[in-house]
Amino acid sequence: MTSSASQKAELTMAPSRSPLSRKSIVEAMTELLGSGAVETSVVQLKAASVDRFRKYTSVHDIYDGPIPAAILYPESTADVAAILRFAEEKLVNIVPRTGQTATEGGLETVVEDSLVVDGSRMNAILSIDPVDMMATAQCGVGLQELEDTLRAQGLTTGHSPQSKPLAEMGGLVATRSIGQFSTLYGGIEDLVIGLEAVFPGGRVVRIKNVPRRAAGPDIRHIIIGSEGALCFITEVTVKLFRYRPENNRYFGFLVGDFASGIDALRELITAGYRPSVCRVYSPEDARQHFAGFYQGKNIVVFVAEGPKGIADATAEAIEELFSGRPHERVDSGLIQRWFENLNWGQDKIDAEKAAMLEDAHLGFTTEVSIDWSRVSDLFDAVMSRIRSEFSRAGDLTMLGAHSSHSYQTGTNLYFVYDYTINCSPREEIEVYHKPLNAIIVTEALRAGGSMVHHHGIGKYRTPWVRQEHGSAYYLLSTLKHAFDPEGVMNAGTIFPLEPEAGAHDTAS
Ligand SMILES: Cc1cc2nc3c(=O)[nH]c(=O)nc-3n(C[C@H](O)[C@H](O)[C@H](O)COP(=O)(O)OP(=O)(O)OC[C@H]3O[C@@H](n4cnc5c(N)ncnc54)[C@H](O)[C@@H]3O)c2cc1C
Repeated sequence: MTSSASQKAELTMAPSRSPLSRKSIVEAMTELLGSGAVETSVVQLKAASVDRFRKYTSVHDIYDGPIPAAILYPESTADVAAILRFAEEKLVNIVPRTGQTATEGGLETVVEDSLVVDGSRMNAILSIDPVDMMATAQCGVGLQELEDTLRAQGLTTGHSPQSKPLAEMGGLVATRSIGQFSTLYGGIEDLVIGLEAVFPGGRVVRIKNVPRRAAGPDIRHIIIGSEGALCFITEVTVKLFRYRPENNRYFGFLVGDFASGIDALRELITAGYRPSVCRVYSPEDARQHFAGFYQGKNIVVFVAEGPKGIADATAEAIEELFSGRPHERVDSGLIQRWFENLNWGQDKIDAEKAAMLEDAHLGFTTEVSIDWSRVSDLFDAVMSRIRSEFSRAGDLTMLGAHSSHSYQTGTNLYFVYDYTINCSPREEIEVYHKPLNAIIVTEALRAGGSMVHHHGIGKYRTPWVRQEHGSAYYLLSTLKHAFDPEGVMNAGTIFPLEPEAGAHDTAS
């Protein structure tokens, strides 16, 4: 193979093509799992062919992609192993799912006659260990349920994504999710101790629970963030912390410009403090959260938590930080109330659906990450490029950003954009969402950042995956070829199916 041919092989992955008919696939699954575990209603299958990337088309009942052959509900690891054995042998594409809150197309069934494997009936909390401080849960345990159970015992995982009321453990690990208290507790990759997963062909692997080890590379990271494109996660063990909400301290400060808000976060974090929440919102973004009191300014928000001495010391450092900076103080009760209503459950999803049907208006987000020294330049570059280059800029009703997860070396930027849709519902993604996403992603890559901070690559950021990883893409694509040689796991997710015309493949 020439070097450019081998580069192409690295870049692409052929989808599986099953020799079986749709009917035979469904019959085989019914025989394997029983009819109660095989869903074939057209309404359910249509809904299972997309995720929230296509929330606008789906609310208008537009489903243009392949509709899966069935949704399967395994009840055990053995069931999952049997399904994945069949899938590899008969070349049937598998799309794993749990809480269905994916936003980047990870749940889209882009191959004909796919099987959606829904882990939500595998929903047992298997153990809670308050001595070794870990809990083990099956993939279909909702994070809300796990957290409610733990908090009643004075414990917490510390993981609290905005989708907590809906997301489940398998998907949370598969997407490399992050919670709102991440600056203190870390992302899911910092919380997972061990896990169990099933690979194509039905091979079950268990990565044992140990506090740390130096026994080769950290193999948990082959699974964490694999987005259903390598394996099906069946069980997860996560760290626990003591739950001490009584020590929480809430802070809000209005500041004149976004860059000075970012600088305040940087100073606090690099000095070694770890507030659980550490955010700055641009005025446009602040308006949708803090309309009553943001006064047209940027807002910096902190929560200090943990054992009382640590929460107090963090609070003191926050006060000291702002004593030397121009600001206006926001009442901490307002910040606490805002924070307590931030999560999205089914009620907010339903309200959004109703609003989308009533108004041709939509909101989306794209999240990236970048070093401290370049974050303000990236913010400015994205805002100005969208305003000057996006052909439908006049339809934007809001364009802003916030930073919500910070690290010793940098932070994330979460761009938010709302627009009025002046085209047919079917065209919405091509006319609005994809071009806006592309500007943000390409600017993040140009600035040396990452094109995705926590939502995963899904199927819509694959045109840039090779540029994201550069020479290290070799490692990622080798995993796919090694663990899923027939390409039956979530085709088109993480790994592009075909070379994209004009793809941004400039990395060497
Ligand atoms: C309103 C809202 C708020 C959100 N807030 C946050 C946030 O604060 N932080 C954050 O990180 N994300 C957030 N997200 C994104 C989303 O909630 C996360 O990506 C979440 O981790 C997905 O979990 P899920 O159980 O819903 O997975 P699903 O949507 O079912 O699946 C997500 C992906 O994981 C794969 N997958 C699912 N289950 C398995 C499994 N058992 N084995 C292997 N692969 C699997 C799927 O194939 C898919 O690619 C938000 C989404 C919404 C809609």
